[in-house]
Amino acid sequence: MDKKLTTCIYCGCGCGLYLVEDGGLVVGAYPSVKHPVSKGCLCVKGWNAYEFVNSMERLTHPLIKENGKFRKAAWDEAIKLIAKKFKAITKESGSNAVAFLSSAKTTNEENYLMMKLARAVFKTNNVDHCARLCHASTVVGLAATFGSGAMTNSINEFEEADCFLITGSDTTAQHPLIGSRIINSVLERSAKLLIADPRKIELSKYAAVHMQQKNGTDVAWVNGMMHVIIKEGLEDKAYIALRTEGFEALKELVREYTPEYVEKITTIPKEKLIEAARTYATTKKAMIVYSMGITQHTTGVDNVKSLANLAMLTGHVGFPSTGVNPLRGQNNVQGACDLGALANVYSGYQKVTDPTARKKFEAAWNVEGLPGEVGLTVTEIISALGNGKVRGLYIMGENPMISDPDQNHVRECLEKAEFLVVQDVFLTDTAAYADVVLPAASFAEKNGTFTNTERRCERIRKIIPPPGEAKADWKILCEVAKACGYKGMNYNDTSEIMEEIRKVTPIYGGMSYKRLDPHGLSWPCPSLEHPGTPYLHKDKFSKGKGSFLPRPFIEPKENPDDEFNFILSTGRIYWHWHTRTMTGRTSTLEREAPAPYVELHPEDAGKMGIRNGEKVKVTSRRGHVELAARVTGKVAVKSCFIPFHYREAAANVLTINAIDPIAKIPEYKVCAVKVEKI
Ligand code: SF4
Repeated sequence: MDKKLTTCIYCGCGCGLYLVEDGGLVVGAYPSVKHPVSKGCLCVKGWNAYEFVNSMERLTHPLIKENGKFRKAAWDEAIKLIAKKFKAITKESGSNAVAFLSSAKTTNEENYLMMKLARAVFKTNNVDHCARLCHASTVVGLAATFGSGAMTNSINEFEEADCFLITGSDTTAQHPLIGSRIINSVLERSAKLLIADPRKIELSKYAAVHMQQKNGTDVAWVNGMMHVIIKEGLEDKAYIALRTEGFEALKELVREYTPEYVEKITTIPKEKLIEAARTYATTKKAMIVYSMGITQHTTGVDNVKSLANLAMLTGHVGFPSTGVNPLRGQNNVQGACDLGALANVYSGYQKVTDPTARKKFEAAWNVEGLPGEVGLTVTEIISALGNGKVRGLYIMGENPMISDPDQNHVRECLEKAEFLVVQDVFLTDTAAYADVVLPAASFAEKNGTFTNTERRCERIRKIIPPPGEAKADWKILCEVAKACGYKGMNYNDTSEIMEEIRKVTPIYGGMSYKRLDPHGLSWPCPSLEHPGTPYLHKDKFSKGKGSFLPRPFIEPKENPDDEFNFILSTGRIYWHWHTRTMTGRTSTLEREAPAPYVELHPEDAGKMGIRNGEKVKVTSRRGHVELAARVTGKVAVKSCFIPFHYREAAANVLTINAIDPIAKIPEYKVCAVKVEKI
């Protein structure tokens, strides 16, 4: 029997847990009492974060497709084939004819190597990952306003906050550790809870004010709160004068967003808006907390900028237990962004368009001619497969068949791929379309680091070997690079990769493995003497002065009409994670939530004669799914909600591939559907 301290594989809270090994299997998980953030707590997913590791369905050998069927292949054969095909495609059609999808489930070291493979070996910036589908708007919006696109404060600071404004985050379902901190603060310290969410969520029970806005109207209610604050003289005048710029333009823009006008757009009663505005503005330690209900819109960047405006208006940034706090979804989505698995930046958000940054990475990687134009993003890469601009795609640990919007479009594009490589722990829905499948190690079978939502980089540790011939993702990437003739990706272990990361990534400059033991450090951590940074923008913003960037309200791309008369929103539930490849193979979790459903309001269900549990058909302009109705007051009248985890009735058959023009994030949270009884 052995045990190893590691980090949970599911959400961005980054809880510390021990995995227990017996007889070569991982047989249990239990919380680390000494972990400074999770402090001996895990949610149900953390307690069960090991069962999928032992699944008999794990990939154990490379597979090559021949005549439409997979056959087992030797590693050498599979790697040589990948190198040969990718080199041939780039020789014929140029560097940008290949693309790479990295993964928020893999480690920092692996994300760094994936972007190095794309950039140094294939000379393309066509590398991206699922942050594009969840928090790309955060990265853009907060970088523009504050100078840094990450959570401003840390999880432990939730214990001291006196007011929470939570929007677009079903926190107890998606970030249970943080959700429980918020509930404790309300119950034990009488912290005020303000919620803006189209659904009634678990936290609504504890809220002083729940503003149930119409989906896709966030800029309007945030502008409305700022209107009230300025009208009543509750803005922090000294803070605005000292630390910000652009206030007059904001004041001018929000002038028309009276509570009455905002009520017409959002359906939020004006009294609730006024109470929320007064409470947030007059509480010193007030935190804004948001997630994908804010970011996954065609106005995602506008939504984030508006929340940043609100926080600066009231002087709520740059102090403990304040700030604007985007909760990052996947365990390592923060790290995958930090390490440059994005189409526009190297690690540490150093721009590919900056000649100085390019020179620096050319020297570090011993290459010439790094590309200077921004690459294609996730949804653009998939579409480019469809129109032949991208001919070869390498996917590590992502499952776009289930996770990307407009599934029928994704399928058509994957079918058109000339050469598709998928590297994963299971044969996913996406892997079924691959030409080569590579078996990867799970988090229990490799070393490395994840960075959680509060920017804490922490270790994961190998406790068992991978099954069969599976290998750690970082080892596979190095073999591909070597087969392509590149000599700059030779590492004996992951600590050597982190040493390279430290040297080229200022925010990770002080993060040696030695210093990350046992519980990690939060960036910025620029030197080996630096203690890490729990909250950002102390004394001044990362960009100097914080910028008010006022945004007007713009309607969502697809509102309901006479035919498609419901608003559909999608999201996660407590029991499952993402495309359910891991939680769907975990008996405790699967037992609790085995099947897809659509939430309908009792008034709508009554009018259509639909009873709880009955099958219904939900149709959008892009396709339809059939699934059980869950009749519940959680959703508003003429709204419905489908968890996106289930391949059996994939919500993304219905969603629209309309994207934010800057962040390129799809509008998962609003599309028009019709609901019919079967
Ligand atoms: Fe894992 Fe998140 Fe649950 Fe913590 S709260 S145990 S990180 S899923």
